[in-house]
Amino acid sequence: MKKWVFCLLVLLMLGYGLTKFKAGMSDLPDESKLQIENSNKPDEVTQADGFKIKVTKEMIFQGDLLLVNKDYPVPDGLGLDAESEAISLVRNPEWIDGFGVLDNRVLLSPRLAEKFRAMVKDAAQEGVSSFLISSGFRNEADQEELYRTLGAEIAMPPGYSEHNIGLSMDIGSSQGEMSRAPEGKWLIDHSWKYGFVLRYPEDKTAITGVQFEPWHFRYVGLPHSAIMKERNFVLEQYLDFLKEQKSVSTTIGEDNYQVFYYPVTENHMITVPAKGEYEISGNNQDGVIVTIRK
Ligand SMILES: [Zn+2]
Repeated sequence: MKKWVFCLLVLLMLGYGLTKFKAGMSDLPDESKLQIENSNKPDEVTQADGFKIKVTKEMIFQGDLLLVNKDYPVPDGLGLDAESEAISLVRNPEWIDGFGVLDNRVLLSPRLAEKFRAMVKDAAQEGVSSFLISSGFRNEADQEELYRTLGAEIAMPPGYSEHNIGLSMDIGSSQGEMSRAPEGKWLIDHSWKYGFVLRYPEDKTAITGVQFEPWHFRYVGLPHSAIMKERNFVLEQYLDFLKEQKSVSTTIGEDNYQVFYYPVTENHMITVPAKGEYEISGNNQDGVIVTIRK
């Protein structure tokens, strides 16, 4: 649905080859060079030559950074979009590679399945290889059933679960409970490199309103997962932080990122004071986050 958009004119002006930009986003940060630097110095982001983007209200409700919780429901129509993308893993066994599937009904978007597969492949190289998936995308009917059978303490009501937008996975281990299993520990340390975050940590229940769920991982993408990990933010805190800061810069490996928050009140143009390849996500609240990689 949302892809990195090439700012061709800017690229040409810069004289960069496209290949430089095509490579990398899915490349993993080289751990030896891993360095996250956040800076909020305005002079680093205010450049004379930026670019303009037309922002519409609908853009608030699309993208990988959507906040979905008890206060912010799944945007209209998004559940159906996510459902149309999701595939059944057991019916597409070529996607099951390096992990087990606990439930025949598990649905996942190929985009998430690919990222998960890359992640477990790297974990296996470190001897951590007993991953299971118990849930990915869930439609509202499935969520309703869970809510009825498990209760409000454990399941979100239909229309208020991240599973309904297809960006979350419940990951288990055949070695035992995720809070103690090597798989759970490995994910806490490494999943950010693949764009995932532990969505409901033990020390954030007052903010998330959800009990500790060592199995529930949410995809937000880089560099957001890295900044959240480094600053120990859950999504609620990260989105507030971006709103406050307006812009944040980060370096991960060889990629430099700038992240901007813009409130959206009506259809209008925004001028992004930066150069590079960009991606936009709404926050499901009031604005959009523009992420630029260069
Ligand atoms: Zn979950």
